[in-house]
Amino acid sequence: MKTKKILLPETEIPTHWYNVVADMKNKPQRMINPGTKEPLKPEDLYPLFAEELARQEFNETDTWIEIPEEVRDKYKIYRPSPLVRAYGLEKALDTPAHIYFKNESVSPVGSHKLNSALPQVYYNKLDGTTNLTTETGAGQWGTALSFAGKVFGLEIAVYMVKVSYEQKPYRRSLMQTWGAQVIPSPSMSTKSGRKALTERPNYQGSLGMAISEAIELAMQTPKCKYTLGSVLNHVSLHQTVIGLEAEKQMEMAEEYPDIVIGCFGGGSNFSGISFPFLRHVMNGDKKTRFIAAEPASCPKLTRGIFKFDFGDEAGYTPLIPMYTLGHNFAPANIHAGGLRYHGAGSIVSQLKKDNLIEAVAIPQLETFEAGVLFAQTEGIIPAPESTHAIASAIREAKKAKEEGTKKVILFNLSGHGLVDMSAYDQYLAGDLKNYEVSDSEIEKFLQS
Ligand SMILES: *Cc1c(COP(=O)(O)O)cnc(C)c1O
Repeated sequence: MKTKKILLPETEIPTHWYNVVADMKNKPQRMINPGTKEPLKPEDLYPLFAEELARQEFNETDTWIEIPEEVRDKYKIYRPSPLVRAYGLEKALDTPAHIYFKNESVSPVGSHKLNSALPQVYYNKLDGTTNLTTETGAGQWGTALSFAGKVFGLEIAVYMVKVSYEQKPYRRSLMQTWGAQVIPSPSMSTKSGRKALTERPNYQGSLGMAISEAIELAMQTPKCKYTLGSVLNHVSLHQTVIGLEAEKQMEMAEEYPDIVIGCFGGGSNFSGISFPFLRHVMNGDKKTRFIAAEPASCPKLTRGIFKFDFGDEAGYTPLIPMYTLGHNFAPANIHAGGLRYHGAGSIVSQLKKDNLIEAVAIPQLETFEAGVLFAQTEGIIPAPESTHAIASAIREAKKAKEEGTKKVILFNLSGHGLVDMSAYDQYLAGDLKNYEVSDSEIEKFLQS
């Protein structure tokens, strides 16, 4: 086997996160208070988020933000993560392309989400917060926050989208094992949940709905704050440890990526792998392409519109400048639960508007086909979310073969799929299908 894992010594865990906003010519627009129509300030978020996180959210000036020693110390549990050359996949595709992946599935919770959960809990602890709420779709953010809560000694309550609560009972068990309380959403424990259940008793929930419930509980409980695992600028900031490590590891491999790919839910892992490489494009040194791979059934970047929209279904959040399918968009029950979100973070949305990044929408069957090929050639069972990045990498590797060019492709393996085997069962049994969403459906949600 030619396969070699490229590891960095412990001291190579980045000391700073990279704040791409400081380097952007066109800054992302600020979130707006829906009541006053005024742009938000950090203080406006203090009731909801730890103060340092609120400041990071609006930081447009500091290119590098120091990672607290306590957080770096916990990163050492699983970082630096390996960068792997996918020789097996290359061979199966008979492509001249070199394919690398950054393996974030090695974190104890099985995904990149812990990179932001650890600092978020840490900054809350500094503020004297004792309880945190959040929502989780596929369960990955909830598991990451549950473990991070245990690491720093905070109580965690997780609203889990009901369809995932039922489809993924083991993610619930993981969260409970790490000591968190898990509530299926919509629930009767909040006003927004009760309203949704009265209107649609069989509603299977959505990430937007669960966000509404988690915010409501945090606002009503003293010393209780809220956390978000994607979409917001401070989350993308924390995830840049992925790309910063990858940059050094690619150097050790004596290669530089022509194409960088991440799957896309709200944008955090895509941002994490991309932004450190993007800075060399923005300053004119490199011509790397960046591809966000989203599900065809939830195509906010490829078919949504850019506007100010709510981040949740009930409309509790500020208005966010984003590519969106409308905050009431109800995506099909695809297995990539972490990608079933109606909007894209404001940094990534601005970058897309400025043509600094590209997006592709991939049908469910193609993603599982890619996931199985990856599993059979590289040995790792990828998360259904991550299979979108793999499918996009495979498309590019095939293109390189047709064109006869040696492209260097780097994608982020955002997580493993060991807790998603029921999805693989259904795929292998031929029971999965593609979901197309029509223009008129998208139009309907954008207007409601
Ligand atoms: C949450 C999640 C995603 C999608 O979220 P982003 O913020 O877009 O990264 C993708 N992959 C995995 C494994 C996840 O847990």
